[in-house]
Amino acid sequence: MKTYSLKCTGCGAVYVQDYPWPRCEKCGGLLEVEYDYNSIELPRNFKTQFIKQWKYRPFFPVSRKPVTAGEGGTRLKEVGPGLYLKIEIDNPTKSFKDRGSTVEITKAVELGFDRVVVASTGNMALSVSAYSEIAGIEAITFVGSGANLNKIDMIRNRGGKIVQVDGDFNDAMSEAEKFAKMSNAFLIGDYLYRKEGQKGVFFEIIDQLGFNPPDYLFVPVGNATLISASYKAFQEFIKFKLIDRVPKIVGVQAEGAKPFVNYVKTGKLRKSSINTDADAIAVGYPTYAEQARKAIKETGGEAVTVTDQEMRDAMREIYRKAGVCAELAGASAYAAMIKHRIREGKSAVAVVSGGNI
Ligand SMILES: [Zn+2]
Repeated sequence: MKTYSLKCTGCGAVYVQDYPWPRCEKCGGLLEVEYDYNSIELPRNFKTQFIKQWKYRPFFPVSRKPVTAGEGGTRLKEVGPGLYLKIEIDNPTKSFKDRGSTVEITKAVELGFDRVVVASTGNMALSVSAYSEIAGIEAITFVGSGANLNKIDMIRNRGGKIVQVDGDFNDAMSEAEKFAKMSNAFLIGDYLYRKEGQKGVFFEIIDQLGFNPPDYLFVPVGNATLISASYKAFQEFIKFKLIDRVPKIVGVQAEGAKPFVNYVKTGKLRKSSINTDADAIAVGYPTYAEQARKAIKETGGEAVTVTDQEMRDAMREIYRKAGVCAELAGASAYAAMIKHRIREGKSAVAVVSGGNI
């Protein structure tokens, strides 16, 4: 049977595998799932199995039957020689968030919770409300003033509960944490279980490329959970000898909200102002900055910015080349890939993260 523990990324304290809070009691650091990889067994036909999120179940920290809406198996669309878009808009609620939600909500049910609490800029809440509905549990969403109002309306129309916080996304996150603790609800969002689920994007990319990793991977960075998940996914495939090298990971932020780019440059994480229409990556203080920085440093990647106009142009090109409507943040990684001018003979994948417009 698969075993794992939870380890604090701050002080190294170790918690039992079903400890229900995502932060360390001692230092407040983020907990991380640490598998005993010897306890993970891949089916013999792993490589040839049909590609979808739960194909990678051996790398997800749950044991019960999944709460699923058929997420994953999204298209990897070639848009130039060796250049690909990973179309996460193909997911049930039109963003990569479904991959985290399916794992988180499954875990919530496994641990016996009937209520989850989440902070979101929009897409995550859309996704969480859908999966909570399927599981028959209650979801309460905390949003800051920068959240996308159309997305919030969509959640309300589906009967979801919204708490509006006077402040930004980071304030919404700390209010959600307080409320969850007080009300004994399961706190979800950009924490360990979501990160585990988001690895699915990258397992699929590698799988769809016949286990030949691309030279570059472009990932949008808001709270930096997705980019951190990419690194962990590649490390796990290396451990299981499914690949023998990892792509250079390039983190992409909006020019108008670039705390992570500044952090990579200076080594100091400072809260940044938000001046971009790309709401899904408009985060002033990314929770997973430290892990994401490691991902970039250790793969020889970098952190770059794109302007809102560059994202708009990329949106149009994605529509033209792949026939899908990306939202602004969803086009950020492709905008960076265009700007980067990948050399001939090199391969690259850009994650088109969402399309809720
Ligand atoms: Zn700690």
